[in-house]
Amino acid sequence: MEVELRRCIICTIPKPIAAFNKEHVIPEAIGGRVVIYHVCIDCNSTLGEQADHHLTDNLLIRMFRSEHQIGGAPNPFPEGRLIDDPRQIVYTEVKDGVFVPRIRVQKLETDNPGTIQFTGEANNQKAIKTAVDKTFKRNNLPPLTDEEFNERLSETPITGMTVNFTVDSFYYARALEKIAYEMTWKWLGDSYIDDELAPAIRHFIRYGEPDSDCSFIQMCRLLSEDESAKIFVPTDHTIIIEFSKKSITCTVLIADIFISNFIMSHNPEAYALGFGTAYLTNNAVNGRVLEKRVDSLY
Ligand SMILES: [Zn+2]
Repeated sequence: MEVELRRCIICTIPKPIAAFNKEHVIPEAIGGRVVIYHVCIDCNSTLGEQADHHLTDNLLIRMFRSEHQIGGAPNPFPEGRLIDDPRQIVYTEVKDGVFVPRIRVQKLETDNPGTIQFTGEANNQKAIKTAVDKTFKRNNLPPLTDEEFNERLSETPITGMTVNFTVDSFYYARALEKIAYEMTWKWLGDSYIDDELAPAIRHFIRYGEPDSDCSFIQMCRLLSEDESAKIFVPTDHTIIIEFSKKSITCTVLIADIFISNFIMSHNPEAYALGFGTAYLTNNAVNGRVLEKRVDSLY
């Protein structure tokens, strides 16, 4: 019996159909809805770990996801600490699109034996009372009356908080190049896997380091404020492929945050597709995908 084989567009190894699963061209965590079934399961998990997450976990993207409630809407900031009392944890909450620092209600160790200290925000005394009540109950003690609770309250002004985070200025390029590569394959077909430039692009996606030879990257950066302001739908991800006489290029825009442009091939004549430009928009919030091809100019 013959087993039907399919070529993985990342490792290029022909494998049985069962060795493939669903791959999101634009990561699902940022609202991507375009899926392909030509990346093998092994490559798919490697891409997730080594390329996609550099984009989906980028601080700016996490803020975007949090603001628009996309892909689990992560808290964009790592937990911080109060400067005056580093035992106290500060976290960020999103309220109506604004990031609000909050202090976690918690039970703290004290130097006095037999004394327990609870902390929280002054405007959220109810949450502190709940935590106190729970501890009293667990220790078989009668709950504090509101009066007793209020007597024990003390307020400390907050002077500041410290938060540590790092900003990735390179690795997200691999994630953007992955989107460009997969979409170019989708538009050009299987013969693109064997394009002269494709092995270098695949290598960069899988193993790229800051000193990699990646001359096919023409641009990969944050959009300036002026450019962002001109984006018609700020929650659209956009992919554009363009044929010129000399090359095929792909532009990837991630919302109004990142812009990148890659050379995908130096052999445009190898792909007689009858279109000069194709573009796709994928709205991160409502998932709507629009695709359009424009006739060749040549
Ligand atoms: Zn593979």
